[in-house]
Amino acid sequence: MAGIWRQLLLTKATDHEQFERGQDGGFVSAMLTWLIKNDYIEAAMVSGVEADDAWKAKPVLAHTPDEVLATAGSRYTYCANPLALRQAKEEGLTRLALVGMGCQTSSPPTMWDRKAGKVSKPFVFNIGLLCSKTFDDAIFEELFEAKYGLKKSEMVKMNIKGVFQIWMKDGAYHEVDLKECHAWTREGCKKCPDFAAEHADISTGGIGKDNAWTLTIVRTELGEEVITRMIADGTIEARPAQEDEVAMKLLRTLSIVSRRRWPKDADAAPAIGVPPPKKKAAAAPAPTPA
Ligand SMILES: Cc1cc2nc3c(=O)[nH]c(=O)nc-3n(C[C@H](O)[C@H](O)[C@H](O)COP(=O)(O)OP(=O)(O)OC[C@H]3O[C@@H](n4cnc5c(N)ncnc54)[C@H](O)[C@@H]3O)c2cc1C
Repeated sequence: MAGIWRQLLLTKATDHEQFERGQDGGFVSAMLTWLIKNDYIEAAMVSGVEADDAWKAKPVLAHTPDEVLATAGSRYTYCANPLALRQAKEEGLTRLALVGMGCQTSSPPTMWDRKAGKVSKPFVFNIGLLCSKTFDDAIFEELFEAKYGLKKSEMVKMNIKGVFQIWMKDGAYHEVDLKECHAWTREGCKKCPDFAAEHADISTGGIGKDNAWTLTIVRTELGEEVITRMIADGTIEARPAQEDEVAMKLLRTLSIVSRRRWPKDADAAPAIGVPPPKKKAAAAPAPTPA
């Protein structure tokens, strides 16, 4: 249900800073740095933030290990990373990695398949992010600040693990029920059929038992070549993801939830075998008056 794979791993960066600044195991940052150092790519299309707002995401190019580190971590608002291609073209770069959710990492393989030519050539490595949804930027002011008094400027980290987790500069930790956040779900995400970024070389997520490891789905020959070399030279630690039953179950369940949204008027093949939602138990009949 989560797409094809060659290896299912839990990984973490062995470099302390990559691990600390990464959202989960810091794998994506470790991989981008490795790809730059080993001359697979000249830069990566990632998500940076505005100079005056640490939570306003914007597409940027990371050319160096320091720039990779500066853009680590997750922002849960939308960021169209492929738009950094414009800057890459201006800089004359021809070998790029793309980091993004399925809506973004499906674009290079689609272009290759449809022989889109020139525009698709600079994408040489495709790193996917598992994703159920993104939120409108308004969620910061309209929910977190208005209801809970949590100022965006005071937030240092956020994560989604069954609840919206928010860490503040003063060390405080808050949880917000995801049901409350629902009203700020970005419209397009409600139609997305691809939780697991199925067309990426490697897809990554944080649904493990803890935040210390990145769930890493190695899909392509190229992905496998790179990850094998990263393990061999000690850039990352890796263990079989099957050891984490919670992660395996969530991967399947969340992929099914998204895949059920496959459009009825599209080629039916990707929806074959997707289990229908369980029927809700019928409401108990109202008691009859004596
Ligand atoms: C919007 C969003 C929703 C997600 N939802 C889930 C989920 O439901 N379940 C799950 O298991 N995992 C989810 N993830 C993936 C997870 O949060 C981590 O990105 C992933 O596990 C990699 O962790 P890491 O420590 O290896 O990455 P890091 O080393 O921290 O690198 C993360 C990379 O993601 C890029 N990035 C950050 N924010 C965005 C953004 N908004 N748009 C595009 N790129 C971005 C960064 O620039 C960086 O290159 C989501 C990520 C995002 C961005």
